[in-house]
Amino acid sequence: MAELVELPSRLGILPFRNKVLLPGAIIRIRCTSPSSVKLVEQELWQREEKGLIGVLPVRDTEAAAVGSMLSPGVGNDSGERSLKGPADVLGDSQKQDGKNQQELIHWHNRGVAARALHLSRGVEKPSGRVTYIVVLEGLCRFSVQELSARGNYYIARISHLDMTKAELEQAEQDPDLILLSRQFKATAMELISVLEQKQKTVGRTKVLLETVPVHRLADIFVASFEISFEEQLSMLDSIDLKVRLSKATELVDRHLQMRAIKEELGDNDDDEDDIAALERKMQSAGMPPNIWKHAQRELRRLRKMQPQQPGYSSSCVYLELLADLPWQKVSEEHVLDLRAAKERLDHDHYGLVKIKQRIIEYLAVRKLKPDARGPVLCFVGPPGVGKTSLASSIAAALNRKFVRISLGGVKDEADIRGHRRTYIGSMPGRLIDGLKRVAVNNPVMLLDEIDKTGSDVRGDPASALLEVLDPEQNKTFNDHYLNVPFDLSKVIFVATANRIQPIPPPLLDRMEVIELPGYTPEEKLKIAMKHLIPRVLDQHGLSSEFLQIPEAMVKIIIQRYTREAGVRNLERNLAALARAAAVKVAEQERAVQLTRDVHPMTSSILDTRLADAAEVEMEVIPMGVNRQEISNAFSSTSVLVVDEAMLEKVLGPPRFDGREAAERVATPGVSVGLVWTSFGGEVQFVEATAMVGKGDLHLTGQLGDIIKESAQIALTWVRARAADLKLSAAGGVNLLENRDIHIHFPAGAVPKDGPSAGVTLVTSLVSLFSQRKVRADTAMTGEMTLRGLVLPVGGIKDKVLAAHRYGINRVILPERNLKDLAEVPSAILAGIEVVDELIKRLLLKRSGRKGGGNSKENLVM
Ligand code: ADP
Repeated sequence: MAELVELPSRLGILPFRNKVLLPGAIIRIRCTSPSSVKLVEQELWQREEKGLIGVLPVRDTEAAAVGSMLSPGVGNDSGERSLKGPADVLGDSQKQDGKNQQELIHWHNRGVAARALHLSRGVEKPSGRVTYIVVLEGLCRFSVQELSARGNYYIARISHLDMTKAELEQAEQDPDLILLSRQFKATAMELISVLEQKQKTVGRTKVLLETVPVHRLADIFVASFEISFEEQLSMLDSIDLKVRLSKATELVDRHLQMRAIKEELGDNDDDEDDIAALERKMQSAGMPPNIWKHAQRELRRLRKMQPQQPGYSSSCVYLELLADLPWQKVSEEHVLDLRAAKERLDHDHYGLVKIKQRIIEYLAVRKLKPDARGPVLCFVGPPGVGKTSLASSIAAALNRKFVRISLGGVKDEADIRGHRRTYIGSMPGRLIDGLKRVAVNNPVMLLDEIDKTGSDVRGDPASALLEVLDPEQNKTFNDHYLNVPFDLSKVIFVATANRIQPIPPPLLDRMEVIELPGYTPEEKLKIAMKHLIPRVLDQHGLSSEFLQIPEAMVKIIIQRYTREAGVRNLERNLAALARAAAVKVAEQERAVQLTRDVHPMTSSILDTRLADAAEVEMEVIPMGVNRQEISNAFSSTSVLVVDEAMLEKVLGPPRFDGREAAERVATPGVSVGLVWTSFGGEVQFVEATAMVGKGDLHLTGQLGDIIKESAQIALTWVRARAADLKLSAAGGVNLLENRDIHIHFPAGAVPKDGPSAGVTLVTSLVSLFSQRKVRADTAMTGEMTLRGLVLPVGGIKDKVLAAHRYGINRVILPERNLKDLAEVPSAILAGIEVVDELIKRLLLKRSGRKGGGNSKENLVM
């Protein structure tokens, strides 16, 4: 933004015809002429560090003489020299553009250094012509000492015109300047309050007034006015801060007066135009007759209002919404080709055979009976397993648009159904908003994370959703903000959830649950090689000619950098590699054919400025672009093959190393449990320790009531069985008497609950009291009753997958859960020894008999 900028002594020059870029202003330019393309390419695109260019105003006047000159500034307040421009350079450009033979070009001798906020490069087909779109931000003024040619563009020797920091600080003490600043701010504030009645963005402008130095503000304000080229030049030439501020105050003042006169004369052209445009838009929205009547009434009300009146802008926004909603617009559905749909699903997704089959059945029913009121599909599973992308494939197969509505954290019914317009800041609900965005009334709408809605005093979003999903009721869905019914019956709803339990039963009743388990490492590898890598390469403008990620490296990423049920982090890591490679490729090449944006737009508090920035088309001077040259440049890059060194460099040191369990159970009192979270199965360590005390139990780790009770039960059971288990005399110390027990569930920041840690808690306590370490290769799950019965628990498949991910190859399960192992992929099961709870008890007895109290050997569980 407007910080003090270090300028180089030379700058490539972009001539700006009859226009001025002021510091702080943002413009978007399409560069198509060979000279401006070359300038952007060499001075901005190919630079590693952010480059700067100079934007220099030129004035073309019809004249007989041929030549070029630098003209002195208009408001000349610093004694600069008038320089003759290099005739040979100009001669060159004139040869290229015969039409301008008779033109005398006046170069202004002051310009503004600018940096690119955003650059994109395109190659026109079939001509192969290269063009750039550049968003430039004006930074600071400079004056030109000398112009010369570099290739076919200009370069200028320049000197800085803005004050140094010290000079600025000194100048700011000047009482005259302080007074002028105050005057300017007051006038600017007045303008803002006038604008406030019309525009929503002025809040941001107010922020500017408080954060940006006043002399910069002067430029920014003036840049947003439509003023003559002469006035723009004069502002550019106002190097002296006092001159600049009084000029800006004068211009802002004039702007204010003009508005006042307009209003006095009742000349409210703008508003009139706005309303007429709104009406036209409403007419073409295809509203049903009763809604059209309602809209007309509202429009008549709006016409009678003054723009300053409260309610005017909210009424406009409301009518805009009515006009934007897709009352009639649909995506054309062509006859569904089931084979093509299957191909598409297969093309987009690896594995998931049963799920894809179920989707095809669902589509087949729709094909036979398009208005069939089938169930709403609900994909349930941990993050990154493909729920969203399956839903979007359904949309693609049906040739419908896709819109995702995020329901995570929605607790307020108004989020679904909107606020009544009587509320300040009222808005439509997420569904209506989604339909406005997607602009057709028959999209596939994904209700994402439907299990994450909750209810509280602000109503029950689930009941609103119930209405949405009910084919009887959703024909006349009533959004409180919209206040007229909207027909949702053409929308195809698909939902996703991480877990089934939190979904309210009536809602669940409307849906058909399709569970997506997590992937095995082998599946992840296949998904990465076949789907993720090609997609990630494409997204970064790369191909396998530039970057190769061998299978062995993907395996390492899966094992050592990610530990998840889905493939989201895997995809992120692959994207990180692609980004690093893109930088390398760009460094190697002189010119790369990239059609994507490469420099992300830097966020600026002045983003309001961009909205006003004009798109300026630079002049086109035809010149043959040699396609051969371009394609040669592409092929000069050598292929980059990812190796372990690159993995470490880009992704950092490995995050997981398979030794974690062994290290953590190195002391007695720690056991390894398997739990089920919304991220899928997880390994959960349980730590127990004892200290001198009164026999109290302390529990930490953000535990819910159920898990706290499990801990109580476990401790009571172990204490009651102390003699059987030969625990009390372990290590010669009685650990059961006069001891407080502390049990902790890391990680401390994650809330935990559920009964399935019972067995793990018992194990951890027995290990503590017997002072024997638990085996690191064994994880367990199961609910315990007070009498020591082990009850079955949920999520067995995910838990076994989690154990596998952690490199744990023994799992203890409640006997009644053995049947659930049928769902575990056999490849995983083959590498895991499953010990059911019965066998465990046997082993425990045996070890108790054999080992005795003082044994330090591992507890066999
Ligand atoms: P979810 O909605 O379950 O959180 P996404 O649908 O966002 O997950 O999937 C995350 C990424 O993983 C997407 O890029 C998706 O295409 C990819 N992905 C997930 N499962 C598969 C699969 N079986 N085959 C190919 N890509 C997959």
